[in-house]
Amino acid sequence: LLSLLGLAVFILSVVMGERLSRKALKPVIQNMESQKKFIADASHELRTPISIFSASLEVLEKEEKSKMSSFSQETLNELKEEVHQMKNLVSHLLTLAKDQERQEIHKDSFSINELARKMASQYERLSQSTRTVKVIAPPEDLIVEADRVRIKELLQLLLDNALKYSDAGSPVEIRLKAQAKNNLVIEIRDEGEGIPSADLPYLFDRFYRVDKGRSRTQGGAGLGLSIAKEITSLYRGSIEAESQPGKGTTFRVELPVLA
Ligand code: ADP
Repeated sequence: LLSLLGLAVFILSVVMGERLSRKALKPVIQNMESQKKFIADASHELRTPISIFSASLEVLEKEEKSKMSSFSQETLNELKEEVHQMKNLVSHLLTLAKDQERQEIHKDSFSINELARKMASQYERLSQSTRTVKVIAPPEDLIVEADRVRIKELLQLLLDNALKYSDAGSPVEIRLKAQAKNNLVIEIRDEGEGIPSADLPYLFDRFYRVDKGRSRTQGGAGLGLSIAKEITSLYRGSIEAESQPGKGTTFRVELPVLA
């Protein structure tokens, strides 16, 4: 059963990882309509088998793990990691498909200072205090009028990356500023491995990963930043990356959403 599962996961990984890569997709997807349909169909189709894998692995772990050799236990852990990665990929795909379908955007009114502080402490707690996420913001609340769920997702995507691509112990910062007119500036800074300048123009492309080997072991599918870009576009804002390899990266978002 374990080797069958392994084979199936491997096949799914190849299908999802390689066939969905930018190069392979290019000739298949000719226009926005077929791209939208492809993303929606692929994500829906993949959800069920992944849930079945996940449930089967749980059963295996519960009932059989103690009887397994250490090699089999290691294989089981690897399978679990792969399935987890596939789940993330499918959830990103679904978000993309939804982004394109959804016309309606909620208009909430909320303090971005408060949201950022809340998220920072959640991330610190999640890391069991191995990471620090510092919020640097003006003392007065910056009130944002936009869909809170979308803005939170945007911050999450950038914070996930900042933490993923930097070492434990190195700090991550969220900087908030108000700019002329109603512009909110959000900067997410890390002191991680950085991004080579040759890769910067492609970062926001779907499925783009700087170092495929490295990112894959860290669970990335190359979709996070394209979703971040989509969210900023919803508000006619901008997102850009500034990076020094070996020193760190700053993602700067500008959104005309301040009350
Ligand atoms: P992934 O799921 O692979 O993280 P993203 O679209 O979020 O996909 O990011 C695309 C690529 O950009 C990543 O694979 C990674 O190589 C690079 N990247 C993104 N954020 C950072 C960061 N803060 N530091 C270094 N590299 C980054």
